[in-house]
Amino acid sequence: MSYLKERILKDGVIFPNSVLKIDSFLNQQIDPKVMEEIGREFYDHFKAEGVTKILTIEASGIAPAIILASHLRVPMLFAKKAKGAPLKGDEVYETKVHSYTKGTTSRVCVSKQYLEEKDRVLIIDDFLANGEASLGLVDLVYQAGGQVVGVGICVEKSFQPGRRRLEEAGIAVYSLVRIKEINSDSQEILFEKGH
Ligand code: 5GP
Repeated sequence: MSYLKERILKDGVIFPNSVLKIDSFLNQQIDPKVMEEIGREFYDHFKAEGVTKILTIEASGIAPAIILASHLRVPMLFAKKAKGAPLKGDEVYETKVHSYTKGTTSRVCVSKQYLEEKDRVLIIDDFLANGEASLGLVDLVYQAGGQVVGVGICVEKSFQPGRRRLEEAGIAVYSLVRIKEINSDSQEILFEKGH
């Protein structure tokens, strides 16, 4: 069993609506051993893909994205949640992302300086649920004319439609851990076979 999975079983806390809190080792306090494993596994999977940039969204995607970027020796870029009025002119690519956990919709953007047509972008995030965050990031890459190499996810909640929506959009998804079911009543987490 992977260390990430072990930590989910040991320290994950189940909230209503199948939200899993893993603040003690990934989303607030960060366990370097989990990070090392995440970096190594993503690297093994994506090392031959000619990735030129890693793209994630603030804040929880940043830690796994930076560790992989340091293995691949490419820059890591994070999309920011925009505050206030849109910037004047056209300095940013912008899209909208609905947050599954917060129930809010944010404008997210990246500076046009950092995403280019020649980029082969790998999208990384901590969780995949309905696919909103990842699809928003795909949209930003496409606005820049770049290519999406794939999406790498630490924890996929496979009972939600994120993977299907990404695959229907022609994007390959690679997840380190795939959760089949979260049972709030029995506080049980079931994993997909082999994940
Ligand atoms: P999606 O956009 O795929 O619906 O949801 C993924 C995003 O929402 C991730 O960036 C993650 O921050 C957050 N998220 C979705 N489900 C969970 C969850 O069960 N636990 C935590 N901690 N974050 C989640």
